[in-house]
Amino acid sequence: MRVGVLGGGQLARMMALAGHPLGITCTVLDPAADACAGAVADLIVGAYDSPDGLDRLARSSDVVTFEFESVPAASAERLAGHVAVQPPPAALEVAQDRLHEKRLFAELGIETATFRAIGSQAELDGGPLPGVLKTRRLGYDGKGQRVLREAGDAQGAFTALGEVPLILEGLVEFDRELSIVAVRASGGEVACYPLVENHHREGILRITHAPAPDAGAALQELAERYARLVLERLEYVGVLALELFQVGNRLLANEMAPRVHNSGHWTIEGAETSQFENHLRAVCGLPLGTTQLRMPCTMVNLIGAAPATAELAAVTRAHVHLYGKAPRPGRKVGHVTVTRGGDWEAAAALADAV
Ligand code: AMP
Repeated sequence: MRVGVLGGGQLARMMALAGHPLGITCTVLDPAADACAGAVADLIVGAYDSPDGLDRLARSSDVVTFEFESVPAASAERLAGHVAVQPPPAALEVAQDRLHEKRLFAELGIETATFRAIGSQAELDGGPLPGVLKTRRLGYDGKGQRVLREAGDAQGAFTALGEVPLILEGLVEFDRELSIVAVRASGGEVACYPLVENHHREGILRITHAPAPDAGAALQELAERYARLVLERLEYVGVLALELFQVGNRLLANEMAPRVHNSGHWTIEGAETSQFENHLRAVCGLPLGTTQLRMPCTMVNLIGAAPATAELAAVTRAHVHLYGKAPRPGRKVGHVTVTRGGDWEAAAALADAV
């Protein structure tokens, strides 16, 4: 099978690596000539809305998928005119707009923070506070949002966020942040990975503990129920991640990612079948692999720059993944998965020290 991927970053790179043993080859489309997936997949250099690039990708592929959700709707449509596209473009559209996403959750009976649409400073002045004000579109890794604790914080916030459509969410006093990665096959079969616990710094995922310590069967069941509801409503095929806040024994959905997800990187070593392989299996119409835990582990992101490989490799039970990307502040350049009995704190200390 030939899989086309819109986007040639580390997610496409790990997908291509996972496809190799299965005889699945990937071609990626990316505007950057040095896109890191290009080292392990065929790379078409072109803008995400370039008709020529899209048509070349479609011609090189039996099915096209995505490594990010901000795919221009017209590009998804153009591709769909020539080749199978999975997950369905409608899922991308929902995920591109935080308001539509929250409305979908609410419709499905999935708990969320309270939310309301904000279209002007006047609407914002009505509160309620405290809240988190976010741009509806194109926000990621904590960008395009601010916490409003009191009325003074709301002053000028509409302009500060660019006078674009916003969503004001209630500020959730969560116990911790969790996520669940789930996959749906073309025949409708759904499989879920264990809930994981995520730690962010400056809005960027830094550490994932898999499985989430002491999550318990009831919480896992609830998360799986939520994931299944979304997958089934969207007639989804592929991997989807659901980011959740835990408040006591409740789970509030924050957002979904219609793609393989950073909080699922641990599955390469820690699960029977990685999220990358399962995404490919799903979009290629193959049976899913089991998502069972093989080994508890902790994933540490390498952000900005990578420590010396020799130092990382010296950490007990560390599995080093370098993406071949040039260092830049805030950029994810690699990750390390440390399996049970290893020294993940040592890996985290190395990651912090660069
Ligand atoms: P997001 O871009 O929606 O993933 O938000 C980035 C981070 O901001 C989340 O991982 C949370 O730590 C925090 N956050 C987002 N929304 C809320 C909320 N409604 N209440 C409390 N914290 C939030």
